Amino acid sequence: MQIKNPYLQSVYETVVNRNPGEKEFHQAVGEVLESFEPVVEKRPDIVGAGVIERLVEPERFIQFRVAWVDDAGRVQVNRGYRVQFNSAIGPYKGGIRFHPTVNASVIKFLGFEQIFKNALTGLPMGGGKGGADFDPKGKSEGEIMRFCQAYMTELYRHIGADTDVPAGDIGVGAREIGYMFGQYKRIANEFTGVLTGKGISYGGSLARTEATGFGLCYFTQEMLASMKNDSFIDKTVIISGSGNVALYACKKATELGGRVVAMSDSTGCVYDKNGINFEVMRQVKEVERARISEYAKRVPGAEYVPNSRAVWEYKCDIALPCATQNEIDAEIATTLVKNGVMAVCEGANMPCTIEAVEIFQKNGVLFGPAKAANAGGVATSGLEMTQNSMRMFWSFGEVDTKLKDIMVNIYHTVENAAKEYGREGNLVAGANIAAFLKVADAMKWQGVY
Ligand code: NDP
Repeated sequence: MQIKNPYLQSVYETVVNRNPGEKEFHQAVGEVLESFEPVVEKRPDIVGAGVIERLVEPERFIQFRVAWVDDAGRVQVNRGYRVQFNSAIGPYKGGIRFHPTVNASVIKFLGFEQIFKNALTGLPMGGGKGGADFDPKGKSEGEIMRFCQAYMTELYRHIGADTDVPAGDIGVGAREIGYMFGQYKRIANEFTGVLTGKGISYGGSLARTEATGFGLCYFTQEMLASMKNDSFIDKTVIISGSGNVALYACKKATELGGRVVAMSDSTGCVYDKNGINFEVMRQVKEVERARISEYAKRVPGAEYVPNSRAVWEYKCDIALPCATQNEIDAEIATTLVKNGVMAVCEGANMPCTIEAVEIFQKNGVLFGPAKAANAGGVATSGLEMTQNSMRMFWSFGEVDTKLKDIMVNIYHTVENAAKEYGREGNLVAGANIAAFLKVADAMKWQGVY
C-alpha cells in the first residue's frame, strides 16, 4: 500500500517490518493512516507528540497455551491471545473470537479497529481484542465448557472490571461468556462486570444480544435519511452470515420496512424472495446451531445454494455484510454495483477489502464503515458496564433508546468530521478522523507512555 504523505508512509512501513506477514493488521493500519493525511497537516502538535507511532504499537500483546482434555480423554492444545491495544480513554474493551483462522494478525487488526470504534461510541472504553484458534464446530457441550475454562484460567490474571473487559465475537456467544465468567469468578473470588454479553440473570444487559444488528440498521437508516432522504422502506436487502449480528440485522431491517431476501453461513446461502422469516432463521441458527440449508427445507419457496459467496449474486438495494473479514472483494463489489446497490454498511469487522471500498466510493454507493456502523454492540456492552457499576438494570426499551441515540450521534459525528477535514461524504475518513482526534488528545495529555 502506498500512502501519499511521506511521514505516514514511514509509520506504515515500520508496522509492516515490525509485524512480518500479518496482512490483516497491515491492511487495517494502512486504511486508517491513509485517512490521517488532512489531520497531519492541521495538527502538528499530535505529530510532535509521537502519537501516531505509539498508536500503531499495542500497549501489550499476550499469547498463551490453552491445554484441555477432549471427550475421548486426549489432551488438546490451542493458542490463546489477548491484545491490550490502547487504554488512553478507558479500560481495554473488545470481544473474544474462537475460530480456526485466529492468529496474531487477526487479533491485532481487530484490536486496532476497536480503539476507534470504542472512541466513536462516546463511552469511556479503550481498545482490546482476544481469541483462540479453537474451532467450536462439532464440539460437545462438555468440550466447549472445558475449553472456555482453560482459556480463562490464563486470561483472568490480565483482565478486570477496571482494567480490561472482554465480550463475545465469532464463536463466542452467551454460552461461552457464561462458562468464562464462572471460571473468572471461581479463581478471582469476585462477582464483577469483568465480561459483557453475560446472561440476564447474572448481570447481562437487555438488548445486548440484539445490539450490533439493531445498531447497524439504525446507522444505515440515518445514513439513508441524511444522504439520500430515503429509508429501508420497500428496499431489497442482502445480509451475509446468520450469526448474532446478521440475525438481528435481519430482524430490524425487516421491522424498518426492508425485505431481506438472502442470508448465508460458512457452508452456503439461502434466497427467499418473500423475505427471510426471522423466527425460522433464528430457530435454525441460534437455537439449533444447524446449517443454513435447514431453512430452505422448512420454508416453501426458499432456495439453498452450497456456496457462501453466491449470496452477493442476487439483486439488492442495501447490502449488509455481517459474516467475516474480507468477504467482499473487488469482484463481488463490481457485481453489487452492476446490480444497482445503493448502500453498503459493514456489520462484520473489515468485511470489505480496500479495493472493494474504492469501487463503492467511485460509483457513488453510500458506504458505512464497520468502526461506525457496527459500534452498537460495544456501545451496549458499555451500557452493561454502567448497569453493573450501578448494580441496577434498565428495561429493553431504555437500552434500545440509548443505543439508537448513540448510533444516530455516531453517524453525525462521522459525517461532520469528514466535512471539516475536506472529505465530505467519505464516512471511512470521517470515522477514522473523529475517533483518532479523541484518542490522540488523550494520549498527548497523558504524556509519553
Ligand atoms: P457469529 O459467530 O455469531 O456468526 C458468524 C457468522 O458468519 C456465522 O453465520 C458464520 O457461519 C459466518 N461465517 C464465519 N466465517 C465465514 C466465512 N469465512 N464465510 C462465510 N460465512 C462465515 O459471529 P458474530 O455475528 O458475533 O460476528 C460476525 C462479525 O461481526 C465478525 O466480523 C465480528 O467481529 C463482528 N462483530 C460482532 C459483534 C458482536 O456483538 N457479536 C460486534 C461488532 C462486530 P457458520 O454458522 O457456518 O459458522
